[in-house]
Amino acid sequence: MILIHYHEIALKGKNRVFFEIQLVKNIKQGLDGLYKTVKRLPGRIVVEIKPRVSKDKSRKRLSKIFGVAYFVFADECESTLGEIKKTVLAHLPSNGWQTFKIETKRSYKQFPKTSQETSAIVGAHVLKNFKRRGVSGVRPQVNVKKPDLTCNIEITKDKTYIYSEKIKGAGGLPVGVSGKVAVLLSGGIDSPVAAHRIMKRGSRTVFIHFHSYPQTSKASEEKVKELAKILNDYQFKTRLYLVPFLDIQKEIMTKTLSSYRVILYRRFMFRIAEKIARRERALALATGESVGQVASQTIENINTVNSVAEMPVLRPLISYDKEEIIKEAQNIGTFEISIQPHDDCCTLFIPRNPATRGKLEVAEKEEKELGVDKLVKKCLNEMKVIDL
Ligand code: ATP
Ligand code: MG
Repeated sequence: MILIHYHEIALKGKNRVFFEIQLVKNIKQGLDGLYKTVKRLPGRIVVEIKPRVSKDKSRKRLSKIFGVAYFVFADECESTLGEIKKTVLAHLPSNGWQTFKIETKRSYKQFPKTSQETSAIVGAHVLKNFKRRGVSGVRPQVNVKKPDLTCNIEITKDKTYIYSEKIKGAGGLPVGVSGKVAVLLSGGIDSPVAAHRIMKRGSRTVFIHFHSYPQTSKASEEKVKELAKILNDYQFKTRLYLVPFLDIQKEIMTKTLSSYRVILYRRFMFRIAEKIARRERALALATGESVGQVASQTIENINTVNSVAEMPVLRPLISYDKEEIIKEAQNIGTFEISIQPHDDCCTLFIPRNPATRGKLEVAEKEEKELGVDKLVKKCLNEMKVIDL
């Protein structure tokens, strides 16, 4: 059995059931093929794992389900003192500890002993009867302050659960409870981390990638697909839009001020992304921007770009240092892919002197030279959709 606990969801008052139902749904998808039943009990979710499924496998899958605060692998027995004693003895690992304590919680108040009495009785039973299998090591001792091992007993009306190791979950909120967000996904380090953060807050994400094919290689597309696949493990179903951006870049390059190129690229990206977001019924856009990281990410430029968006643009990494982002990318598993060399659509036509304080009036004036609506429409007509 696996007992799954959540924190934040418990705080959500009337929404609680909605949150729990979403979490159960996600657990079923995440543990697809590994479980027999998933049940919602007060304050926790109980999963019965199929026989012969390794703990490691379920642990790996569960660690990617947002909304899980922690989980434990538990043994289950009838809620009687005799069964509990027997199951605790069998549950305790043979080695690796000397001191222990028993901690009992009881939601089944008709159980004939109090929690404290139960802990004391079971503790005494362990002291008297525990035998290390195969080795004649030291005898166990009780230590309530700093034990090597804490054995928990949770007594409910139906069943009692016994476990000793709490495993930290992914935290956050279950994906699906906070609407949908369209994430601008480049092949770089930052945007996959931003997408991960957005999902952690419970939003389903759809990805939009702008490419300059055939000026850039197909390998860049593969790279983005790889990144999307890794992120898909957190939401199980992902849509990736591949938007051809070369025509727009050429227009910008030939007709506008070179120092405003990157700002104008970004303004087009936001316009197109917002159109896609509306089709997807997404409620916001998200990027991997962080203040001051590169010339295009000064507050002034963020402002000048942002003004084309009507939707909120979420920037979960806005205050992060690059090192912090890299660490997260390593944990998620996107870093190794992100650092593979690729030609990014924006590095391709980067000017030598990009404006660091781009003015909105100038950007708007430059755009007068371009047929903005027509260019946007053309991209939308020619984009490719991939469902993972
Ligand atoms: P990243 O590592 O995410 O590419 P970066 O530090 O390289 O970020 P920029 O290249 O300035 O920063 O991009 C800022 C943000 O704009 C990215 O995080 C991403 O959300 C979006 N973006 C940039 N290029 C693209 C692209 N080709 N397709 C989709 N989104 C992009
Ligand atoms: Mg980039």
